This record gives sequence, structure tokens and C-alpha cells, in this order.
Amino acid sequence: MNRLKTLLTVVVTATITSLFWIVVYNGAASTSSASTATANAVADLPPGKAVTATLEGPARLVVAPSGLAIPVAGIGSRDLVDTYTQSRSGGARVHNAIDIMASRGTPVVAAAPGTVEKLFFSDGGGGISAYVRSDDRQWIYYYAHLDAYAPGLREGQRIARGAPIGTVGSTGNANPAGPHLHFAVNRMAPGERWHEGTPVNPYPLLAGNRASR
Ligand SMILES: [Zn+2]
Repeated sequence: MNRLKTLLTVVVTATITSLFWIVVYNGAASTSSASTATANAVADLPPGKAVTATLEGPARLVVAPSGLAIPVAGIGSRDLVDTYTQSRSGGARVHNAIDIMASRGTPVVAAAPGTVEKLFFSDGGGGISAYVRSDDRQWIYYYAHLDAYAPGLREGQRIARGAPIGTVGSTGNANPAGPHLHFAVNRMAPGERWHEGTPVNPYPLLAGNRASR
């Protein structure tokens, strides 16, 4: 019982925090990108009291028919570029992720709910990064090159879709002149650990046309 209460508190807190961040961002966004985001926006609000109160606010996530939210605040589906098969390290390997370009410090939010499984730093790779596992344990969502984690983010934490993960940056092997979120989706076989799994292209999952409601 106490555990359920704690969990609810965490989810509600995360939701409120993420809404706050998005409001702040939209306030500072240019007119064109803000209107794009609004046009594509679908409210992503889990059921619950605290959330009902915010339904009419300006905070919106862009959610694709796949159920994944675009994990960078203020970015719409038309802003995305499919960089999944771009070569890396002279063509020896492919990217297996999507790079979402945005200004340094732009909020990065959870594309899907889950549990923060690993907070990892790799100087020669993803830099400040987070691995979030879906509730059914079959997917890992990977957020890399962060400038910083969201305050209080910790391993084992359950987060809602849209909860703050951190901010866009260029830590690790990213070009400091081109801050972006490196976002990957890996399908996980039973027993696979956070750094394992089979990559799936996030682009169609994020950029798919909005389903009519
Ligand atoms: Zn990348």
C-alpha cells in the first residue's frame, strides 16, 4: 500500500515537472515551431486527478500513432530526419538510432513510460545517457549526449511518458557544434541487459502520421 502511494507520488511529480518544463519551453519557442508543435499535438496525460487539472493548459506532447512521444520538447514530426542507417566510423557500422537536433538545454522527455534501468556515462560514446525499460520489459529506450540529467532522476525510478529525462547536449562523441538527442529503441529478448537488445528504427515510430480521433 505504501509502495503504491510512493509510486503514484513519483508519477504525479514527474508529470507535473514535465508539464512545467514544456510550458517554459513553449514560452520561449519561436512562433513557427510552437505552432507546428501545437498543430501536431496530442495530449499525453495519464489518468488521475493531478492530470485532469492540466488538460487545458498549453503543455502538449507530440505523440505518434505508435504511442511514442517525440522525446524533445518543441519538436514536431516534420522536424525529424531519418538518420537510422547513416554510417558511423567510416562506414564500418550504422547508426541504429535517430538524431534529433535541438538547442542545448532543450528538455528531453520520456518517449514512453518505464523504469530508469541505467544511468551511464561513456566519454567516447553516448556521454551522459539514460536507459529506460518498458513495463513489459521488452523494450529499452536510450537517450544519449545529454547535457545533464533531470533533477532527481535515478536508477529504479518509474517514469511516465513525457517525464523529464534531462536536457539536449553534446556529451560523449557528439559534435559540440551540433547538440542533439541520440535516441534509440531496442527490442529486448528475455534476460537481455540494458546495453544489449536488437535495434529498431525509431523514425517511423515517431514520425508516423497522427491517427484521427
Ligand atoms: Zn546519434
